[in-house]
Amino acid sequence: MPLSPTSKLMADAFGRKRGLAAFNIIHLETAEALVAGAEMAGLPLILQISENCVKYHGGLVPLTRAAQALADRSTVPIALHLDHAEDEHLAMEAVDLGFGSVMYDGAHLDYEDNVNATARIARYAHARGVYVEAELGKVGGKDGAHAPGVRTDPQEAVAFVAATNVDALAVAVGSSHAMTAKTSTVDMGLIAALRRETGVPLVLHGSSGVPDQDLVSAIRSGMTKINVSTHLNCVFTRAVREYLEANPAAVDSRKYIKAGREALVPEVARLITLINDGR
Ligand SMILES: [Zn+2]
Repeated sequence: MPLSPTSKLMADAFGRKRGLAAFNIIHLETAEALVAGAEMAGLPLILQISENCVKYHGGLVPLTRAAQALADRSTVPIALHLDHAEDEHLAMEAVDLGFGSVMYDGAHLDYEDNVNATARIARYAHARGVYVEAELGKVGGKDGAHAPGVRTDPQEAVAFVAATNVDALAVAVGSSHAMTAKTSTVDMGLIAALRRETGVPLVLHGSSGVPDQDLVSAIRSGMTKINVSTHLNCVFTRAVREYLEANPAAVDSRKYIKAGREALVPEVARLITLINDGR
């Protein structure tokens, strides 16, 4: 089926208080594995392409076309999202290319500049039927709103959503990016307060560092979109490393990349099911 609108998948998950998986693709084979995992689970999935990934590939179009083609032949709803765009032009390019949603990340800007830039993106995207995610940028630290110890204030979140008109909000509730161990502690009470106060779907970044049962609790507390990237990278790379260690004479790159792709599929299916069903 063609790409599903992110707005539709998010509204459905938000209304039913279910989680919606949003996993990053970094090359063709991860995109193939993620779609295959969603099909194995029989559940929808948001594929995400980050600005960093766009830089790696030298442009947005090739991986976008691949994701669109994979969605076309998928048996489950697949949406396409631009993750962590700090470049306004990239966000607009994604809107023009047919993405269902974009995340504008103005965490590097002053609060007022973040509000203005986010509102500009929201106007551009909404005029074209595209859904917008943003995050609060007032807090400092290397990781912006996702630095350990940083928390989103519910009243600031309400003001930010009203000033920018965004559809979903990435919030700081204890998780942190790029964690390879599941040692984050998530503030469930804050999630409930943020959902109650803002009235918009909430997004958990840095979910790779959150234990499975805490992910389930976070969703029950009111979290909707669950972003996972690092954990899946670990699964892929572990399989590639094991293959190469067992086959030191291997030269055909398809052999070891296939090992990574195959290892990813059941883990993607398991995680999507956990996020959707809470088990
Ligand atoms: Zn993130």
